[in-house]
This record gives sequence, structure tokens and C-alpha cells, in this order.
Amino acid sequence: MHEFNYAGNELYCEKVPVRKIVQEVGTPVYIYSSITLRNHYQAFDSAFAEIPHIVCFAVKANSNLSILRLFAKEGSGADIVSGGELFRALKAGIEPQKIVFAGIGKTGEEIAEALRSKILMFNVESPLELQKINEVAGKLGLKARVALRVNPDIDPKTHPYISTGLKKSKFGIDIKRALQEYQLASALPHIEIVGIHKHIGSQITEVGPFVAAMEKILDLVARLKESGIEIKYLDAGGGLGIRYGEEEPPHPRDLGAALLPMIKDLGCTLIFEPGRVIVGNAGVLVTKVLYLKSGETKNFVVVDAGMNDLIRPSLYDAHHEIVPIEKRDAPQMTADVVGPICESGDFLAKDRKLDRPEPGDYLAVMSAGAYGFTMSSNYNSRPKAAEVMVEGDTYSVIRKRESYEDLIRGEV
Ligand SMILES: *Cc1c(COP(=O)(O)O)cnc(C)c1O
Repeated sequence: MHEFNYAGNELYCEKVPVRKIVQEVGTPVYIYSSITLRNHYQAFDSAFAEIPHIVCFAVKANSNLSILRLFAKEGSGADIVSGGELFRALKAGIEPQKIVFAGIGKTGEEIAEALRSKILMFNVESPLELQKINEVAGKLGLKARVALRVNPDIDPKTHPYISTGLKKSKFGIDIKRALQEYQLASALPHIEIVGIHKHIGSQITEVGPFVAAMEKILDLVARLKESGIEIKYLDAGGGLGIRYGEEEPPHPRDLGAALLPMIKDLGCTLIFEPGRVIVGNAGVLVTKVLYLKSGETKNFVVVDAGMNDLIRPSLYDAHHEIVPIEKRDAPQMTADVVGPICESGDFLAKDRKLDRPEPGDYLAVMSAGAYGFTMSSNYNSRPKAAEVMVEGDTYSVIRKRESYEDLIRGEV
């Protein structure tokens, strides 16, 4: 459920007409619903209320400070993958003891920053990284809390670019070698083993892969226990999918119903790292129609948002619904909705049936709250879009539209 609905012919975010925002802030603009953000966070959190757990919002899905602050107030932790995300999470008031740090390329500096900030744990992706963490912690006179990211070799049945738990993936430590790696880790003087981590991919629309991966993890947890290694934190990663078009992904409570019986007597604190499922449908990207153009075989709707604003269609062939912010009686057409970037891969939709818009109309690209703004760039020297958060009948700009001066900041 989300808070982008029509009243009559007009699209609203909560109680604010989208038209009002675009008239005042311009386009392209990301608009987020604070009610939806909170509802989605709470739906996830309450699905696991039965057992001790921490929801660590995956900052890479949407890292705007105001959004992180909203989650911090809800009690959320953070799943980070860089020093920059650590900086944002702390700045937003997320408690360090609820921060977990993943990623296969953590630098020595990032490791030191995280140790000094006293984060909950590192999710370690390789034996050499573990040694590096041990070394950095030793220099700082600290002990690093770690989980090993285990690769359970489970197919999440999603796009290859967002599958992370298969044998051929660059992520994690092969589950067959995990016991041995844990034993090596337990001998390192500046390492404290506290957890186990897995994350098998993103936009997963069935419960099955989560259950299959959990079975393998639990088997490993039991073997670790036999060899004297206690797991306090079981980090199940993120990856729950959302509805972009026709998908019917499970509700967080379905995930809870499937997983809780497996883990509730384990005595571990469960960690989840949801990103997309919390923010995806809480945001839209609104763009203005510039031109209509008919090619030999195709129609094009040229809009003022491109792949630099929302790269998911170009990168993943992702589907986003596109709707007018004001419905009117118009004939249907089939068209590619394309941006102004000088690349043929710059499109928001291909062969899409839509009401024929007119130049000057505004279109809302739905489900753009996750991996939208965070993956945006300045390609073609295009300033990044503004971001707006709606709260009931008011809204605020939570990131100013970039200026041309912003584009050249730091250049000499
Ligand atoms: C990207 C990522 C997540 C979040 O994935 P979603 O599909 O957005 O829930 C969680 N954990 C790790 C380690 C990730 O890389």
C-alpha cells in the first residue's frame, strides 16, 4: 500500500496535489510519502516482533538524510556499504550499535572509521578482509565485532545483476569453506565473532529462496556451535521484493510466518536489512513531457528525466508504471518514454501503452523510492533532481535541486 492516489482526475501524495509540488519545485523531482515510509518500516518491524531483532535499513536504497532521520526516529538501524553511508547514518542519528557494515571492498580507513564509531559489526566478505580488520583493530587497540557473510548458493530467481548468493557471485564466503574460516577468525586476537550474515539478492518475490537459504545457514550455525563458536546475531540480509507491475511479492508478515518458526528458539538476535521493500513504493519521480516524436516505426514521448535520474530501466530492464498527474480524456498510444540523454539506452519505458500526453504535461514514474535518487548521476552535466517529502497536507524540499555551480564544485 502507498499514499499516491487519484482524487478525481488529480494525483495526490497524501493530501498534497502532485501538481502543486511540481509547480513550486519544478521537475524532475522525487516525491516521498512519509506516511508510507513509516507504515512500511512498521510493517517490517512488527512482522518479527515475537523475537529480539534489529531492522537495519539498507542505506544504499535511499540515503537522503531526512529519510534516514525518519527511520532513526522509528528505531531503525542501518546496513551500510561505505564510509560515506556511515557518515550519513550517524549524521541522521542512527545508533552506532545498530549499524552493520557489508561490502567486499572496505578500505583500511573505512574500517577504522567504523571501529571508532563503535558499530555493531562488520559483515566480512573475504579472508583477507578479515585479516585487514584484525590489523586495523589491533592498531587502534580495539576488538572488532564481526559476522562472516556466507554465500549459501541459493538462486533468488531475480535479475542477474541483483543476485548475490550464487556460487559464482563476488559476494561472501562459500558456505562449504565457512566453518574453516570461522575457526581461523576465532584465532585472531583483535576479532570477536558475534554473527553470521547472508544476503542472496534483491527484488525477491517468493518466500522459498529465503527459507532455503535460512536452512543452510541454520545448519552452519549448529555446526559452529559444536565447534565452540556461538552466534549471537543472525543477519538475514535484505532482498524482499515489491510490486512494480504484475508481481505479487509476499508481505513481510508472510516472510515472518515462514522464518520465525525456524529461528525463534535459537536464542539469537535476528537482523534484517530491508531496503527496497521499505522505500520503493514510498516514492515517485515526476517528470515533464517536453516533446512527442514519431519515428518510422515508433512513437517517442520525450521527457525531462533521463537515465541519469533513474537508471533502473536502462540497467536492469526494470518496469516502472508511468501515470499522468492529471487524467484527462485522451486517446491511447504506444510509445517509448525517453529522456534527454545522448544514449539509446536512455529510456524510462519501452513500448508502453499510455494516454497520449501533450507537451507540458507531467508524468509520475511510480515505485521510484528505492535505487532511484541514490543511483542518479550528473551524466551529460545534468544537475541532480530535487527531493521532496510529503507529510499530510504539507511538504518540504529535503534536497535542493542542484545548480550549475554544484556541477563544477571541486573542479579546478
Ligand atoms: C543491497 C543490500 C541490501 C538491501 O537489499 P534490498 O533488496 O533493497 O532489500 C541488504 N543487504 C545487503 C548486504 C545489500 O547489499
